[in-house]
Amino acid sequence: MATGSGRSMIELIEDGDHSISFEFFPPKDEAGAERLWKAISALEPYRPSFVSVTYGAGGSTRDLTVEITGRIARETSLTPVAHLTCVGHTRGELEKILDSYTEVGVHHLMALRGDPPEGPRADWTPTEGGLTYATDLVELARGRGDFRIGVAAFPEGHPHAESLDHDADVLVAKARAGAEFAVTQMFFRASDYFSLVERVRARGVDMPILPGIMPILNLNAIRRQGELVGTAVPDEVIERISQHEAPEDIRAEGITLAAELCQELLAGGAPGLHFYTLNNSRATLEIFERLQITV
Ligand code: FAD
Repeated sequence: MATGSGRSMIELIEDGDHSISFEFFPPKDEAGAERLWKAISALEPYRPSFVSVTYGAGGSTRDLTVEITGRIARETSLTPVAHLTCVGHTRGELEKILDSYTEVGVHHLMALRGDPPEGPRADWTPTEGGLTYATDLVELARGRGDFRIGVAAFPEGHPHAESLDHDADVLVAKARAGAEFAVTQMFFRASDYFSLVERVRARGVDMPILPGIMPILNLNAIRRQGELVGTAVPDEVIERISQHEAPEDIRAEGITLAAELCQELLAGGAPGLHFYTLNNSRATLEIFERLQITV
């Protein structure tokens, strides 16, 4: 249900045939900021359900998430979703950041645990006086302001998950704690996504799970990142990309593969598509062209 502070995620996602959303990250310098705002302007006409801005692993970009989402709320027609993680923060600090989001007009949140500073594969130790799991942050945000909350989901399982079933239990716990929707980690096999959705539905939870789309524009970079976050690049995808040598042909194949994945996901009932833009609209727009998504 809509309230004064913004529409519910369910309403945003279910408005229209399918939800489209875009993820950005806080830039490190002026040139990066220019790229970010150019990408936001280029994608705004597609009327996404929301645009999300990640929360840095540490350091100065963290404040930028408040600044950027606030500016999106003030200066654009878009609904900003601010990410927040438990990394390096006490409960009191997290409460202050949640209050800052409210103050700048941001009422939609992605509540995440975050990764240890040493990287996603390192052992997780909660900050003293801080929170242990994303579920704790969902609960904190629910009690702190009028937030509509999203959480992370992992079609191939979180790298530290005991099993896919336990991972589904965790997602269900996040939903029961008050999360309204989930966005997935990148993945390249539609069947991994559909199996996750099935596991969650089998547990009696019907929250929308938006598939996170990351086109492969550089195979080695994606493989390295995939190893860190627990996403495998399937052999058939590697084969298709490896047929090409020229960078523009590799890119085109990566876009085609992403468009095929999107089609399969939508045809199979995914409620929408969430694009990891890396602050550049080009790849997303190229996928839209293949999918005949127009403004
Ligand atoms: P959790 O849900 O807390 O899960 C973390 C681990 O703990 C999992 O292995 C889970 O199985 C286990 N677990 C959870 N609850 C329990 C429990 N009750 N008992 C036992 N085990 C449990 N990182 C950033 O730093 N900034 C971002 O902005 C950001 N955005 C992201 C957006 C998306 C869509 C995704 C998919 C990831 C994002 N990440 C971001 C990365 C994310 O923070 C990491 O993947 C992190 O390791 C897990 O976060 P989580 O919120 O899923 O944590």
